[in-house]
Amino acid sequence: LIEADRDHLIHPVSSFHDHEARGVRLLQSAKGARVTDGEGRELIDGFAGLWCVNAGYGHESIIAAATEQMRRLPYATGYFDLGSEPAIRLASALAMRAPGDLNRVYFTLGGSDAVDSTIRFIRYYWHAKGQPGRDQFISVASGYHGSSTMGAGLTALPAFHHGFGLPLDWQHKIASHDLYRNPLRDDPAALIAASVAELTATVERLGPDRVAAFYVEPIQGSGGVLVPPAGWLRAMRDRCRDLGILFVADEVITGFGRTGPLFACEDEGIVPDLMTLAKGLTSGYVPMGAVMMTEEVYQTIAGGAGSRAVGHGHTYSAHPVSAAVALEVLALYEGGLLDNGRIMGARLQAGLAGLSDHPLVGDVRGRGMLAAVELVTDKVKKTPLPPEMSPATRLFDRAWQAGLVLRSFPQGVFGYAPPLCCTAEDIDAIVDRTRQVLDQTLDDP
Ligand code: PMP
Repeated sequence: LIEADRDHLIHPVSSFHDHEARGVRLLQSAKGARVTDGEGRELIDGFAGLWCVNAGYGHESIIAAATEQMRRLPYATGYFDLGSEPAIRLASALAMRAPGDLNRVYFTLGGSDAVDSTIRFIRYYWHAKGQPGRDQFISVASGYHGSSTMGAGLTALPAFHHGFGLPLDWQHKIASHDLYRNPLRDDPAALIAASVAELTATVERLGPDRVAAFYVEPIQGSGGVLVPPAGWLRAMRDRCRDLGILFVADEVITGFGRTGPLFACEDEGIVPDLMTLAKGLTSGYVPMGAVMMTEEVYQTIAGGAGSRAVGHGHTYSAHPVSAAVALEVLALYEGGLLDNGRIMGARLQAGLAGLSDHPLVGDVRGRGMLAAVELVTDKVKKTPLPPEMSPATRLFDRAWQAGLVLRSFPQGVFGYAPPLCCTAEDIDAIVDRTRQVLDQTLDDP
């Protein structure tokens, strides 16, 4: 299998894990928060796959929901006016639970096409409003919004840009709220004011009647788990309303209990105009993403003069098997998983905070079951690990050897997003094994 993988299977973002040289890491089975590798070793999955297996592995009720739906009706198109029972039930369930009047749902296959869909819907929205000139989009540096061409342009990773003329000329970014090296770290009010001022200045520079929307993750995930100060998200949301531009919350990572509530927007009591979801929606068992929009956005697109021009759809939109899985996953969240995630999230944050005194730890941050530990060689100067310590590959390897799967970002940041079903023992092992990797790295950089 390892040979065949090397010969045939493309792993686009694995280059910094030395995939070619060391071969694929096979996973053969999993249960709860534990995965078993190709050699039969059990590891704790501190990253829930790729921030997605929120419910944990091996839930018989999810497997039964998928199997039953496959037997009854494995496929129904979401195109035209066709539909299936689980997709309709899921849309209603999400509408009931989403903040405010985010009542309308369009289903996709994952996060990237959800983001792409919002861009199209938003363009249709402004056309319908008779303001087709609103074609400029703003996002935040260090943000991640997918790897499709349009989403990659909103994403702030240079590796996703070169060769494609990205970001596109209508895509713009404001500075990140990253706190760790920010001179305003101890003055959140000033930091919030600075972000609001930059957003305002960017809109003014582009032209007040040219900007369509502002995109933001409530907590930036792939940028290294960057948590804005309390009040930041609300201030940005309010300013978007003042500026008359749409506010899009990308909850692909933060949704479904990752930070505590079902949606991270609830942490600040805000209602976005549009919201993107994926990952925890089906807990990774089958692919699915979603766009939710307010009644106002939907009614404008559907009823406006531009509605005849709306062309959009995916063969697997509103897939009945994915919808059946998502409904069961939602029942699990509400049947105790969200509560457990909140308890275990507090334990994880406290446990990782206990590593702050380690000589290599510069910063510990996060919320709920989403966290990061940033490694430095000098805690006062906040010096990042030097490239020769090959942070991503080496640290990931070391954690793997210690029996822990985590995300190792190239800049020397460990990312954590464990399944919400973790036990106290799982969480303590995540923390202990992290300390083990840190000690080992101190002894042998
Ligand atoms: N938005 C955010 C915030 C994400 O974290 C991701 C994936 N990590 C995406 C969009 C893209 O989702 P997908 O990989 O399912 O296309």
